[in-house]
Amino acid sequence: MKIGKVIMFKNECPGSKDIKQPKPEDITCRFCGADIEIWSDETETKCKSCGKINSRILGPTCLDWCAFAKECVGEDKYRKIKAGTSGKN
Ligand SMILES: [Zn+2]
Ligand SMILES: [Zn+2]
Repeated sequence: MKIGKVIMFKNECPGSKDIKQPKPEDITCRFCGADIEIWSDETETKCKSCGKINSRILGPTCLDWCAFAKECVGEDKYRKIKAGTSGKN
């Protein structure tokens, strides 16, 4: 008997793309309303206009459900994001 299913371990997680190849997103400062930029792998950014920190919840990423998240995004980013998303309340 042969197992015909191909398991693609090398396949890139959709959830890790924004972290591995971060792209800037425009958001509005919730304090002063200025347009500011946040990168897709960041949970917070400082407003250039008023200097306050705008934080956000990172969308669903690989880290939430992927068993290989550490390898997918790299250990540095893994730790950074884990640190940014837990224990902040
Ligand atoms: Zn601001
Ligand atoms: Zn992954």
